[in-house]
Parts: sequence; structure tokens; C-alpha cells
Amino acid sequence: MRYLRMLADRDLALDRTMIPLGSCTMKLNAVTEMESITWPEFSSLHPFAPVDQSLGSRKLIDQLSQWLISITGYDAVSLQPNAGSQGEFSGLLAIRSYHDSRNDSHRRVCLIPSSAHGTNAASAVMAGMRVVVVATDDRGNVSLDDLRAKIAEHSSELAALMITYPSTHGVFETAIGDICAAVHDAGGQVYVDGANLNALVGLAQPGKFGADVSHLNLHKTFCIPHGGGGPGVGPVICRSHLAPFLPNHPMDPTAGPVTGPGPVSAAPFGSASILPISWAYIRLMGGSGLTHATQVAILSANYIARKLGEYYPVLYSGATGLVAHECILDLREITRETGVTVDDVAKRLMDYGFHAPTMSFPVAGTLMVEPTESEDIVELDRFIAAMIAIYREIQAVGDGTYTSENSPLRNAPHTSEKMTSMAWEHPYTREVAAFPQGLALGEIIGRRGKYWPTVGRIDGAYGDRHLICACPPLEEYL
Ligand SMILES: *Cc1c(COP(=O)(O)O)cnc(C)c1O
Repeated sequence: MRYLRMLADRDLALDRTMIPLGSCTMKLNAVTEMESITWPEFSSLHPFAPVDQSLGSRKLIDQLSQWLISITGYDAVSLQPNAGSQGEFSGLLAIRSYHDSRNDSHRRVCLIPSSAHGTNAASAVMAGMRVVVVATDDRGNVSLDDLRAKIAEHSSELAALMITYPSTHGVFETAIGDICAAVHDAGGQVYVDGANLNALVGLAQPGKFGADVSHLNLHKTFCIPHGGGGPGVGPVICRSHLAPFLPNHPMDPTAGPVTGPGPVSAAPFGSASILPISWAYIRLMGGSGLTHATQVAILSANYIARKLGEYYPVLYSGATGLVAHECILDLREITRETGVTVDDVAKRLMDYGFHAPTMSFPVAGTLMVEPTESEDIVELDRFIAAMIAIYREIQAVGDGTYTSENSPLRNAPHTSEKMTSMAWEHPYTREVAAFPQGLALGEIIGRRGKYWPTVGRIDGAYGDRHLICACPPLEEYL
């Protein structure tokens, strides 16, 4: 118990602060949504329990499936995939099987915009397709010229286009209808990556604006917590012509169509034990509540984009100057001028009590912020104030007050150990390090109590690229 408590104390988690990770949709859950997964009726059910012993779970699966179909405008769904990436794989398998069923087995080319999430290309390769990359234009949208050229070049072999809507650049691409039509005209299928569904629920339906199949991320849009990894649920959802090719399972004939390609995960209904979270979220919100959540998510992202845009330029926006449910703050000019990097800002945010936004995805040298509807105006303003205070610190590097190497930014995060050590060789005070100026302490930090980062900066990329063996001597195992 004490060990778990120690880990929880160290964690800069959603129960302490917003986690504005763009493309991740980190929502703050109500206990009501979570509670039922602790009940043994859900949590201890064996995945292969006979139908007559799992009626309640199956009813919940059916209802949730119907709700997802109503929300997206599609016709059929499988809850079997355990992640968005597995949903992508399943959706592409469905497209592949569909082409095969029409004697179109030579259709194996998958067009993917260069801005896509890395899983898209990986899934296409796993599904036996050949990836052809489509360029984006300088506004961050799919280049229609390049798309038309690539379609023309590969029309006889075109299997699919995989596109994210709204895009990974956080923008509603106005050409989405034309893009879908161009792919269909060439005999291809349209896969809309549904990870950004939090910007669509109640407002637009991928199954109606031209897509053939999508995956959803129940661990993003529908509230299953996913900090630190799984388990997740990535339903694959499609129009009726692809329904015969959704996953099935040899151990459970109710898990999918007999004509399906087989299972994509071990259990017939995947991570079924956590479905009550999404069920409860949808049931509690209701249709109008879900629509309102989408509107607030979009409003909040635009609020942040407007408030921070004069400090950190917003990289992409739509024709109307608005973003969707997230925005990309461009730090590249700041880095060129001052040497302060996205890493520095991300780590410094911890001193201010915030988890970092998404770094360098989908554009290197930028931060992507997605507040979600979970955050109220007080928390949004707290984040904005921290980002503006950090901007002033960057200015202090720019005007020579500090070097970038020995600034509160580069030395962040400041641990309590560092703060209380006798040695202090920095051109700024301990107070600036731990209780930064420019913030009304009582309001902004004091209100919740200061979060003390427990580890200083490590070279994360080094660790990613080098296998490091701790290699304790054999005696340690005695
Ligand atoms: C999160 C995400 C995925 C992959 O989902 P996982 O559950 O992490 O596998 C795919 N595409 C986009 C745009 C995403 O944001």
C-alpha cells in the first residue's frame, strides 16, 4: 500500500493537473464511470465464459455497439481490437478482404498523408499493403494536387486512402468530401482514422461524409484512462459493404461475421472488462451532453490558441482562422533565436505543476495542446498563465539575462533535493526556480499545493537509442 502511495505521489497525473497531450484526448474521469470495473461481475469474467453465463456483459457490449454506430453514422462495429492501431489493422484487413472478394486482389496501394500518425503506415504494412505517401501543403492540409497525381499514378492498384479527420494538424480540412470522392472514383476505399473523434461527436459522422471504415479510440474519446499505456479499446467500425469482413473469433460465433478474416486479438470482445467505463460515460452524458462536450473541447482549444498565439505562433488553422480540438504551438523560431527547445518548455512546465503537451508530433520542434472538455476555465487560465510566464523566461534568455544552458528552463525540472542543496550555481534564485515569478502564487500554485518533481532531467532520447544494462553482480540474487 505504501509503495503504491509513493508511486501515486510522484505521478503528475490527471487527478492533479490537466494533461494537455495533443492527439491523446486525456480526459478527467468521474468515479462513477470507473467504479463498475472493480465489480467482479465485470472484472473477473473469463473471456470464454459461455453465452448464458455472460448475458449482462453481452447486453452492455450490444448497447455500446449500437451507441457507437449512432454516433458515427456507420452500420457495423467490432469491439475486439485492443488499441487504435489494432483497429487500423482490422479496418485495413476488411478493405483488403473486400477487394479480394471482388477479384481486385491487385489493389494493395495505401495512400497516407505525410502528417499521419506513425501507426497508420505500420498497420498498412502489416495488412500487406504498400504505402505511398501524399504530401501536405503549406497550410498543413493534404495537398489535393499531389493526391490527384498519386491517385492517377496508382489508380489500378489503389486499395485505400488513410486520412485523419480532423487532421493531426488539429484542423477541419474543408476538402474532406472531395478527397473521399476522388478516392472512390478510382475504386479505392477511404479509411478515416477516428482518433480525433472528440472533435466530431454530435457534430459530424464519418460514416456519412464519405468514409468507409474507421477505428475509434475508446481510451481517448470515450474516457477509458490511458496514461502510461493500456489497456485500451480500438473498435473498428464500418459501412455495410465492409461488415462481412470485420474480425470474428473461432471460440465465439457471436463475436463477428463467419465471413471475417479471423481474430485480431486473443479474446472475442477484446478488453471487454473496461467497456463499462465508456458505457457509463455515454449513458451519463446522453446525446446532447456528448454534443456539448465536443463543442466545449473545440471552444477550449480555440481559447488557448487565441490566448497563447501572440506568444507562441499557432502553426496551422483552418480557412476561418479556427482550430479543431487541439492546436500546435510553433517554437522553432524561439529555438533558433534563443536556443530554448520544446524539451525545455515541457520540463519547465513541471515546475509550474503541469504535465507537458505532446512534443514534436506531428511537427518536430512544436508543442501540440489538447485541453479536452474536461478542463474548466480556471484550469485553462492556469495553464495559459504558466505558458506566458515561461515565455517571459525565454525572453530573459533572449535578452542575455541568462544563457540557455544555465537558465530555469534548461535546468528544469527542479527537484526538492536540488532546491535544498548547499550548492547553487545558477544566475537565478531558488525562488525563481521553484515558485516562479509572474504567477500569483496563492492563485496559481498555492491553490493546490506545489508539485515537487522527483527526478531531474534525463536524456530520454539517449535511453531510447541505447540498451543500458544495469548488470547487478550475481551475488545480488543470493
Ligand atoms: C492515438 C492515435 C492512434 C493509435 O491509437 P493507439 O490506441 O495508441 O494504438 C492512431 N491515430 C491517431 C491520430 C492517434 O492519435
